[in-house]
Amino acid sequence: MSDRVWEMSIEQRESLIKAAFEAKQQTYSPYSKFPVGAALMAADGRIFKGANIENASYGGTICAERTAIVKAVSEGTRSFVALAVVTDVPSTISPCGMCRQVIREFCAQDMPILLIPGDYPKPPGHDSEGKPGIIAGGIKETSIGELLPDSFGPEHLDLPRTGGGK
Ligand SMILES: [Zn+2]
Repeated sequence: MSDRVWEMSIEQRESLIKAAFEAKQQTYSPYSKFPVGAALMAADGRIFKGANIENASYGGTICAERTAIVKAVSEGTRSFVALAVVTDVPSTISPCGMCRQVIREFCAQDMPILLIPGDYPKPPGHDSEGKPGIIAGGIKETSIGELLPDSFGPEHLDLPRTGGGK
């Protein structure tokens, strides 16, 4: 189990998880048939929900995590304290590479990211119990620092340049 200090209360965490399941209900995923829900908690306690929204072009598809982040940022909120992601799979599913980079843009390296199994809460004694990062109910607790180590972010654009480029 992680020794991360939660910024959320247990009640807030349960609200976030519930919101992720609610978000999944709004999925538009006729192609993958892989519903995903995400819920992003802002520093002021507001929760922004996102579902995966697919497209017949496939390339126009937007993941649940990015839907939630873009909704929040476009509404003027850029400070976040936690993200929860859930699918219909009875194990935890991790954000795709593109979403990891977008999460990296707006979220602290150690902000809690809760990957929720589709059959949450798993009963005590479930098969993922005791695995790294697994907490009560079968949730995997991680962070963007863990999911996208040694990452590129906005602060790198402020670094001094060698002057070799145009
Ligand atoms: Zn994604």
